[in-house]
Amino acid sequence: MENLSQVFENNQQWADNIKQQQPDFFKESAKGQSPDILWIGCSDSRVPPAQLTELGPGDLFVHRNIANVIPHSDINSQSVIQYAVSVLKVRHVVICGHYGCGGVTAAYEDDNLGLIDNWLANIEDVYRTHQDEIEGRASEEEKLNRFCELNVQEQVKNMSHSPFVKQAWEAGQDLTVHGLIYDLKSGLLNDLDIKINSIEEAANL
Ligand SMILES: [Zn+2]
Repeated sequence: MENLSQVFENNQQWADNIKQQQPDFFKESAKGQSPDILWIGCSDSRVPPAQLTELGPGDLFVHRNIANVIPHSDINSQSVIQYAVSVLKVRHVVICGHYGCGGVTAAYEDDNLGLIDNWLANIEDVYRTHQDEIEGRASEEEKLNRFCELNVQEQVKNMSHSPFVKQAWEAGQDLTVHGLIYDLKSGLLNDLDIKINSIEEAANL
């Protein structure tokens, strides 16, 4: 892509198509949002949440960063969580990782990459917690795949212990935290069967 002309052309086409099918769509959309799902995913360009779920504008409240990490000290992701859970009152929080994640691979290889090393330290913590299980896998690919899955599991844990999520559960809010992983090779989402919807379940994680 030499310049952004393709971006503007595509955007015009996209808006025209929607208006053709639903003339009031943008007028209604401008009034406000009430998405059901907060989606935490990786910034990787190959994992676009709305496209791979075929959901439209207004359906997903999204936060993406390198390797879908949500540290308690990160004011950015914690602000997103607070707004989505406490104000928008989403009913589902999805933590979606993906196999072949560059952030997870970099953390595994422990390279010196500069500023990003601080961020990757969050993922290295996951490795230290689960080192035996990861290293117990036969091949390099299997080790990295398991590392990607365990990173999702740890972020579900972080999410479930977030004060905003706990407050929501205490108030009786219907809220479930899910762990998913996306397979770049098949285009499919795999459910890691991690579903937490109460303080009691979070305590058992
Ligand atoms: Zn990634």
